[in-house]
Amino acid sequence: MSDDVDVLVVGAGLAGLHTATLLARRGHDVLLVDRRPTLTGAIRTTGIFVRKTLDDFALPPGCLGPPIRRVLLYPPGLRRPVVLDSERDEFRVGDMGPLYAASARTAAAAGVRIVLATRYEGRRDGGHLLAGPDGRVRVRARFLVGADGARSRVARDLGLDRNRHLLVGAEEVFAVPDPGEPPAFHCVLDPSLAPGYLAWVVNDGRHAHVGVAGYADRFPGGMRRALDRFAATAPGLPRAGRPEQVERRGGPIPVGGLLRRIGCPDGLLVGDAAGAVSPLTAGGLDPCLRLSEHAADVLDAALRTGRPDPLAGYDGAALRARFRGRLLLRRGLARLRTPAMSAAAFPLLRTPLGRAAARRVLFGDHSFPDPVAVPLPVR
Ligand SMILES: Cc1cc2nc3c(=O)[nH]c(=O)nc-3n(C[C@H](O)[C@H](O)[C@H](O)COP(=O)(O)OP(=O)(O)OC[C@H]3O[C@@H](n4cnc5c(N)ncnc54)[C@H](O)[C@@H]3O)c2cc1C
Repeated sequence: MSDDVDVLVVGAGLAGLHTATLLARRGHDVLLVDRRPTLTGAIRTTGIFVRKTLDDFALPPGCLGPPIRRVLLYPPGLRRPVVLDSERDEFRVGDMGPLYAASARTAAAAGVRIVLATRYEGRRDGGHLLAGPDGRVRVRARFLVGADGARSRVARDLGLDRNRHLLVGAEEVFAVPDPGEPPAFHCVLDPSLAPGYLAWVVNDGRHAHVGVAGYADRFPGGMRRALDRFAATAPGLPRAGRPEQVERRGGPIPVGGLLRRIGCPDGLLVGDAAGAVSPLTAGGLDPCLRLSEHAADVLDAALRTGRPDPLAGYDGAALRARFRGRLLLRRGLARLRTPAMSAAAFPLLRTPLGRAAARRVLFGDHSFPDPVAVPLPVR
């Protein structure tokens, strides 16, 4: 069977779902495929949404945990954390299974055709090869969107830039009893547990997420062992510890900054595929939503004019310049190679200046840069 669509979106994570929905709402014929058989399984994110995202995007109601205002930063050894409290609600953790499912319903209601358990296998004879439970189909699409994550196959096929600077992360998630304390985000800066990033516990009084992330080749003994070691002593968890049954999540995190070449006349990249992740905090949910809006504007303009010219305005290099500061700080974090180096940074973090800098990173209003609006053709 062969098909003709305006846009084929590969990957039904948040970036793919959002891009597909926006395009369908503007009347375009959109096919969204994902290799996962269900969107509620194999989740690859903790799901922490920052205030700016919560302010600017209508996330599905009932899919967010209680607000978090407290962050604790721990040195190796976990003694005397730096406690930072905000006057505002800073974070909420998404209940990601239901959130993806609700976003898929919204997409379908907008007219997106969603096909799961279907893998994009590449471009063949002017079409795109999709392999599903019933075999292979070739689909023709005017534009191809790579929303297929950090190791994007679409990026390769379109000859666009690909992520080379990656962390890997893994976490365990389980229900917790109400701790009787404010919901909190505990961050441990210990390179022996999380080389180049941090180990975390997010406990919002409903669920606890216990995780580590770092450079794959720098975990002494591997990431799985680091996670086990951390989970055994992690702060902020109920006394009873973690249950036998936990949900496991994990995946790569691109931290090299937005890629330069993310669009071409045949299509474009969004979300992790485009490297749209903060190099410092490794937060990708806000950037993927914002870049998807830009992508939808560009594709809408191209479909309406019948010309690919608007895709030239989808320029990662221009937006990337705004990541300079965060890329510099990422390099600094990557250089913290031993627990002793991390411990030595804490006296500075405890000073008013250090606390103010940490507050700026954690509670600041920084976000993904607003792309220049695409001039839309007159209908
Ligand atoms: C452990 C971990 C914790 C994180 N925690 C946070 C956090 O708390 N807050 C935050 O802001 N960011 C976090 N991030 C980053 C954030 O999750 C990502 O930036 C964001 O989810 C990216 O969304 P996406 O839609 O681009 O990609 P993804 O959600 O990865 O979606 C890509 C989709 O493409 C599909 N796919 C891939 N290849 C194919 C193919 N060939 N054919 C068909 N389908 C394909 C996959 O199945 C997947 O569904 C975390 C990342 C990790 C790994």
